[in-house]
Amino acid sequence: MARGGENAAAAKAARRLAAAGVEIVALAMVDNAGVTLVKCVPLHRFEEAVRFGIGLSPVFSVFLVDDSITSSPHLGGPTGDTRLMPDPAAAMPLAASPGWALAPVDQLDQEGAPYPACARTFARTMLERLASFGLELRGAYEMEFFLGHRTSGAGDEDPHPAHPGPAYSAIALAEVEPFATVLIGALEEQGTGVMQFHPEYSTGQLELSVPHGTGIAVADTNLVLRHTVRAAARSHGLVASFAPVVFAGLVGNGAHVHLSLWNKRGRNVFNGGRGPEGMTREAEAFTAGVLDALPALTAVTAPSVASYQRLQPHRWSGPWAVWGRENREAALRFVTGMVGSRPEAANLELKSMDAAANPYLALGSIVAAGIDGLEREMALPEPVLDDPASIPATRRRALGIRQLPSSLGAAIRELERSSLIRNAMGDVLFDAFLATRRGELAVFGGMDPAEMVRAHRWRY
Ligand code: GLU
Ligand code: MG
Repeated sequence: MARGGENAAAAKAARRLAAAGVEIVALAMVDNAGVTLVKCVPLHRFEEAVRFGIGLSPVFSVFLVDDSITSSPHLGGPTGDTRLMPDPAAAMPLAASPGWALAPVDQLDQEGAPYPACARTFARTMLERLASFGLELRGAYEMEFFLGHRTSGAGDEDPHPAHPGPAYSAIALAEVEPFATVLIGALEEQGTGVMQFHPEYSTGQLELSVPHGTGIAVADTNLVLRHTVRAAARSHGLVASFAPVVFAGLVGNGAHVHLSLWNKRGRNVFNGGRGPEGMTREAEAFTAGVLDALPALTAVTAPSVASYQRLQPHRWSGPWAVWGRENREAALRFVTGMVGSRPEAANLELKSMDAAANPYLALGSIVAAGIDGLEREMALPEPVLDDPASIPATRRRALGIRQLPSSLGAAIRELERSSLIRNAMGDVLFDAFLATRRGELAVFGGMDPAEMVRAHRWRY
């Protein structure tokens, strides 16, 4: 955007935020460990921040989830600066945090050029590439989280869940209703919106779906949603955890991404075609590209050592590198929606993802894989409609059904081999991300499951 346009957009956003009662803006980005970092400015400094940014060391690109620091061939050490440039149009007042707004940022260098390890810039670049195929992505992250009371002391004790189940029950809802009132009210008031909310399967677990957004807003909303959940929890003396697993041995928290692609004629290409389950050729090729890249994508979508306590069979976490209509064990579940609603509703759900993932890196990498499918005009194999775990191993092999990597180490090996993701991210971002994954494997890899869960429980 030309400087004049940028200033006008900043002034317009500042007026909009002021009208909503905002006094302070949290500039937010997600690091390569999946942790959302913030720097806050009073509203009267917001326009200046849009023009010149707020400083942040490049070293945060190689931060690990425990706040220790690694290095990559390009990054590490005390020198240098990046500028956090808030996106004025994306700044969102936070109704559960009176006086506050959250503004997602792009990172630039001090000369005004894109910082090569900026995850949001990466995702936007991939979405722009997708646009060159005449396709616009719409979607949303569907977030599961634990809600409960954090016990006092060192914080190592198990938290008390806010509901005891039964799964999906009105009994569980009754326990969390005042929290849900604040949460849903705030999301509706601030314009994020709510599709649905329910008590989930695991102890203290809840799930929230929000209306589908367009392009980079899919990832921006993920940050807003999490912060709103935390604020609503705090207002009732509760805490939320988006960690992949909150109790060792129990079902974990997913952060499934739902996406559809819309062509220039305003049609959802996941419906109305002659391909499998009504997909068009474009939707099929995109899906086939994602399917093909799933093993390499796993380090991005399930990036924590703890992710692999969740990504197991019989947890509906999508641990199998297959696709199938409404198959909840498949990493790619194809959702057609009900007859009559399909032109709007048909979408692809990637289930092999949890909230340790950086939502920008995940979105960008999934789109990069889909573009690869489009470029190679790939076709889908037969769908898998059974539970892969129930198919005898020899037959599974004959059918080409593979399980996704079942540990961070195995996922890293798949990522290292992926020229697709390296080329899409560029060396600086790819090597920094890889360094953080290797770093976390070294720090946490030797822990027993319960210790590993405790080390991550309050980090996401
Ligand atoms: N909790 C499951 C997961 O870890 C997902 C359950 C569902 O299908 O919503 O992804
Ligand atoms: Mg769920």
